[in-house]
Amino acid sequence: MLERLLAGVSPAVGRILEAALEKRELREREASVLLSAEGVDFFALLRAADLARSDDNGDDVSYVVVRNINFTNICYVGCTFCGFSRHREEEDAYDHPLETLLEKARDAVARGATEICIQGGIHPAKDHNHYREILLAMKREFPDIHLHAFSPEEIDFGHRKSGMELRDYLRWLMDAGLGTIPGTAAEILDDSVRSIVSPRKLATARWVEIVKAAHSIGLRSTSTLMYGHIESVEQVSAHLNLLREIQKETGGFTEFVPLGFIHERNILFNHLDARPGASMLEDLRTIAVARLFLRPWISNIQMSWVKMGPKLAQMALLAGANDFGGTLMEESISRESGSHFGENLPQEEIRRLIRAVRRTPVERSTTYEILRRFDDPANDPPSLEPEQPGELSGPARWRQASRS
Ligand code: SF4
Repeated sequence: MLERLLAGVSPAVGRILEAALEKRELREREASVLLSAEGVDFFALLRAADLARSDDNGDDVSYVVVRNINFTNICYVGCTFCGFSRHREEEDAYDHPLETLLEKARDAVARGATEICIQGGIHPAKDHNHYREILLAMKREFPDIHLHAFSPEEIDFGHRKSGMELRDYLRWLMDAGLGTIPGTAAEILDDSVRSIVSPRKLATARWVEIVKAAHSIGLRSTSTLMYGHIESVEQVSAHLNLLREIQKETGGFTEFVPLGFIHERNILFNHLDARPGASMLEDLRTIAVARLFLRPWISNIQMSWVKMGPKLAQMALLAGANDFGGTLMEESISRESGSHFGENLPQEEIRRLIRAVRRTPVERSTTYEILRRFDDPANDPPSLEPEQPGELSGPARWRQASRS
């Protein structure tokens, strides 16, 4: 019976998995074969990725205590996958004053946040000074908080308005407190796909230019992919290869985060015939292939619980992922596109989900230094989640458990 089980893996997939486990660098076309794995091949892929994860990262699963802050949803770029942006006249358009951003940051710090992630729409009336003012205001009140802010699209916009040389502009933001940048706005780094999903956003070459410039001055970034819409497996493989090449050159990526397309409320699905997001198989294949293809260059593979939901996120931990992402506290980009998995996952719940798959939770910084290990649930600290009036479950139960 066991022989039958092993013999079921196709020779082509078996050879690729063996090579990956021997730490041979996979080729793009091999990634494409794995991204199409079905049946027994699919399960073998997940198992191989889990073994590679164990070799690369051990059994720790990291997470970061972070609050997302979107300072404005006013944006005229018009990406077809976006359910978040609003025009200025729309009823629910917002442009938060600095004091509101600081209020959100105060709440985050009280709940243990070490990072504030700041991104917003491309508001036509703003300029480079606005980005800097946000950083300065945050650092004035919270000098120790790590500011992870401004996608390459926002950097592109601010840089063009500034008239500075790109590296000088990035240094100017770093001087004001910028710690790292999100590697979002990547979607698929293929201009034929971008011409449909984000026709007015920065092109692939500009994304690469900004990320490399940032890395060259010590400003690290995440790397991302948006999948499950109109892309082919070959385009995903080429995207992964481009990220790997950048990493070989700069070493500046902290992690890779595959982000599944949320389809309900946007033009891309409703009018442009995109697929309705990724299937569960695609979600897990993407995590697993990322683990095998990017090793040893990018060894932190993060799953997105906002996109996948907590249960599939647990499965992703068995398919090559070693990072649970962050608490978020506030999330509107996925929610506005139709995600149903909430905005806040308290640390206590993240630790429970990690332990349920027999792994050890560790709190990390944005750049993956381990801040705290949680080897024994009996020694977990009390919850810092705020009490909600009339609350019957969730945070109230964790608080109660930590008091008893
Ligand atoms: S994805 Fe970003 S740049 Fe594109 S429309 Fe939405 S907010 Fe604007």
